[in-house]
Amino acid sequence: MNNVKEEVGGNERSRNFLEEIIEESIAKGETRVQTRFPPEPNGYLHIGHAKSICLNFGLAKKYGGKCNLRFDDTNPVKEDVEYVDSIKEDVHWLGFDWAGEYYASDYFDQLYEWAIELIKKGKAYVDDQSQEEIRLTRGTVTVPGKESPWRNRSVEENLDLFQRMKAGEFGDGEKVLRAKIDMAHPNMLLRDPIMYRILHTEHHRTGNKWCIYPMYDYAHGESDSIEKITHSICTLEFDVHRPLYDWFIRELNIFPSHQYEFARLNLTYTIMSKRKLLQLVQNKIVMGWDDPRMPTICGLRRKGYTPESVRAFAEKVGVAKRDNVIDLGLLEFCVREDLNKTAQRRMAVVNPLKVVVTNYPEGKTELFESINNPEDESAGTRMVPFSRELYIERDDFMEEPPKKYYRLSPGKEVRLRYSYLIKCEEVIKDAAGNIIELRCTYDPESGHGSSSDGRKVKGVIHWVSAAHAVEAELRMLDNLFIKENPDDVEEGKTFLDYLNPDSLVIKRGFIEPSLLDSNVGDRFQFERVGYFCVDPDSQPGKLVFNRTVGLKDSWAKMNK
Ligand code: ATP
Ligand code: MG
Repeated sequence: MNNVKEEVGGNERSRNFLEEIIEESIAKGETRVQTRFPPEPNGYLHIGHAKSICLNFGLAKKYGGKCNLRFDDTNPVKEDVEYVDSIKEDVHWLGFDWAGEYYASDYFDQLYEWAIELIKKGKAYVDDQSQEEIRLTRGTVTVPGKESPWRNRSVEENLDLFQRMKAGEFGDGEKVLRAKIDMAHPNMLLRDPIMYRILHTEHHRTGNKWCIYPMYDYAHGESDSIEKITHSICTLEFDVHRPLYDWFIRELNIFPSHQYEFARLNLTYTIMSKRKLLQLVQNKIVMGWDDPRMPTICGLRRKGYTPESVRAFAEKVGVAKRDNVIDLGLLEFCVREDLNKTAQRRMAVVNPLKVVVTNYPEGKTELFESINNPEDESAGTRMVPFSRELYIERDDFMEEPPKKYYRLSPGKEVRLRYSYLIKCEEVIKDAAGNIIELRCTYDPESGHGSSSDGRKVKGVIHWVSAAHAVEAELRMLDNLFIKENPDDVEEGKTFLDYLNPDSLVIKRGFIEPSLLDSNVGDRFQFERVGYFCVDPDSQPGKLVFNRTVGLKDSWAKMNK
């Protein structure tokens, strides 16, 4: 975590290793920078993808290059247009525009032609073994693999069989096309890797045109090469794939794209695998891909995150060459920092306690001018109504307060934000002894920060006028998992055993009436409570808010 700490405090960060590589090649006269973001459309994008997006688009922008959006749609079984659409929406929302929108499936014809070229060169063959047999005969790191009995088929026979694979003469799994490299290669991935498999499955773009589909390792580098990608950036686990990436490009003698690897983003209390996120959606553990507790980009958006805060986070995380885990607190720090500058302040009471101001006239209403954002003068002010009955936060009253408790308690005074001083005269309880109401008096001279005799009162609490308040659903969101690393499961358990039962606590609170004008997606700071965002589940007059993040910044304190 040390590297992160340094970058948060500093203004100018040093160049990351990818920037160094690019600047070195620029110095040698290779000035073109072409990157791509290559999602597989088999799920919604998450914060890890956001890191990759900011990196790929960011590098292209910084060096006057271009970044493509390429859908890596080579596995028709799991892919869908729903995902394609959501990915485009999320990349745009993050603030990026792609130079070209491409699909690996657009290259199926070219990939097929190239496969034929490799067969003709004696570099690829059709294998009749099942994928399971192939796996079992691959050997181990110390034991060489076993050559397939079909490895030495003639070029003619291979061409014929491959063409018939394409024509649909064989069933799923009956044959594969393999690259002919070296069954004893120390890198297991080069032991005659599979290039094509038979899948009689409709593809969301190519329909039923194809029943053979290229594998990732064959399709990816070749797609990069077709688009003349100069810097193909991927996550660390692909470093063992790089020799294969280079092998195909070399054998085909096509544009030499290069692959570079960086450490994937991991976050505490978060899972990032699309497969596991899909499980949460399918098992209805969350409301959907955009559940505000999900680490998806649409989930973060719904929760109230801004694109600026996500980009700032990606920048602060930096680009590492070794795997690490980032504190979720850093992401929260970034959104808090942004919303502090941009979100208008409002008053809302989450756990209401009724206050009756006994010496305030019944039926009277006054309006108090309240500042919308002390960090941004241009946000102006609004008028907040005050009347005889109010709601305050239950936590802001204590019958027997400890020392240095500056909020309300019997016989004590407190300032109502932007309004009067009130003093607690009487505590009303129900038969069970629960406090149900406070009787207070107010100092009529004390509006706007003054008091009748110049006395000072330390505590300031938020409030809403009961007669004007609007009830609202406040979704108090917390981490979805209770375990710091939910992927690290104990024996006999799954990541689902670490769900936080209190990740969503629904409160019925009261909000000030000006909030009735707000729209879905609007973000506010509820004074002293936290940042909140209007949820799409809101109905006219029945607002629903998600708590984006609390006000307390434990991350910044810890990392000072
Ligand atoms: P997952 O494992 O979550 O399913 P993936 O790697 O299969 O993710 P892709 O759609 O293939 O998902 O990813 C598109 C791009 O995003 C790839 O270049 C991948 O390396 C990058 N990426 C995915 N997850 C992360 C992450 N956690 N941190 C950084 N980059 C990531
Ligand atoms: Mg992938």
